[in-house]
Amino acid sequence: MPSFAYFKKKFVPLAEARISVMTHALHYGTAVFEGIRGNWNEQQQQMFIFRLKEHYQRLEEGSRLLRMELPHSVDELCSITVELARRCGFKEDTYIRPLVYKSAEAMGVRLHNLDCDFLVFAIPWGRYLDMDACHCGISSWRRPGDNVIPPRAKITGLYINNAFTKTEAVDKGFDEGIMLSPDGYVSEGSGENLFILKDGRLITPPVSNSILVGITRNTVMILAKNELGIETIERPIDPEELYTADECFLTGTAAHVTPVGEIENRKIGSGGGEVAGRLQELYFKVIKGDNPKYIYWCTPVYEK
Ligand code: PMP
Repeated sequence: MPSFAYFKKKFVPLAEARISVMTHALHYGTAVFEGIRGNWNEQQQQMFIFRLKEHYQRLEEGSRLLRMELPHSVDELCSITVELARRCGFKEDTYIRPLVYKSAEAMGVRLHNLDCDFLVFAIPWGRYLDMDACHCGISSWRRPGDNVIPPRAKITGLYINNAFTKTEAVDKGFDEGIMLSPDGYVSEGSGENLFILKDGRLITPPVSNSILVGITRNTVMILAKNELGIETIERPIDPEELYTADECFLTGTAAHVTPVGEIENRKIGSGGGEVAGRLQELYFKVIKGDNPKYIYWCTPVYEK
């Protein structure tokens, strides 16, 4: 299936979207990105893009942090993305990748006096982690503090930290690595936020523990409260608490809601994840546009 990109203010075949070897962002990681999902609903023959506006709001904030001015408003970016997805015409789960980058063909480490540009493309992409129960390790790589690289922005250069973590985990036979904050609290997975369940309440690390403020994290907190009557507490989590939790799960646009069965070869709770399972089920209905109560989070791609 041919794919397209929106590149230099035009829709072009993906293969034609090319950048120069001198591009600043390629050398110094001076870019911010997003990961957005288009979820295919077979019954409705429709694709729903989940929380599109929130993703672009986060991209806009990250761009500002790197001193880049977006060439479009958030609303325009949403329209461009729907148009892109429509042109791609996929009838399966899709991953949408926008990027705002220092496009200047210039050398020298800095943020100032560099042109920037925006691009977005889409590819078919299904499952990211084992959805039943993944096996995690504790990463030896720590998440940086706000005064090193702010983790609440999806800065491309920062993701080498995540890449170290993911590859270390896979090398050791785990599915995913859990990183700690600079002061040793639980932070997040290489591409997911983390929750534990203890005594009927959900606990997740606060923004101050070097996390990306995930859109799935927010979605799960809302669904847990509204649909299951379970409150989420945002507070620092000691690593030992992972081993005594009743349940643990990861959340992210790519990973959805993924129960954690084991951490460092220790079974978490019963290893099953009843609440995580219920949240996963609720979440899938919502992102596929099958729950009218939350349909305002879903942008349909195809005209009916
Ligand atoms: N943490 C990190 C480091 C991530 O890369 C992601 C994926 N964007 C998440 C958490 C989850 O964020 P979201 O739910 O917004 O996809």
